[in-house]
Amino acid sequence: MSTPKILIVDDEEGVRESLKLILGDYYDIILTDSGEQALRCLEKDPAIGLVLLDIKMPKVNGLEVLKAVKAKRHALSVVMVTGYRSVETAAEATRLGASGYIVKPFKSDEILATVQRCLASI
Ligand SMILES: [Mg+2]
Repeated sequence: MSTPKILIVDDEEGVRESLKLILGDYYDIILTDSGEQALRCLEKDPAIGLVLLDIKMPKVNGLEVLKAVKAKRHALSVVMVTGYRSVETAAEATRLGASGYIVKPFKSDEILATVQRCLASI
């Protein structure tokens, strides 16, 4: 089986880089800094098997991106990675089909465990 491909979407370079550092030894990683770019990547690359998605981004926020992703590829796992712990936002993300909700600052084992769980459930 080929290495799973993960799309990371976050407007902060530091977050993108730390996620890449955690996951890069085990998975193919694509980094994007906006929802628009993420949707373009998903259109071009059907091999992407998981999305790690920031919520707070300029222009299109993560929940809107989640909606658009799910409308196009319903079975694709999307994990929200956010700086704000909010029960309402977490519930909304779950309702829209998110597979997980991780609050920054995250621990590397938390990221790895969530990614493994989501990829295993496909
Ligand atoms: Mg952000």
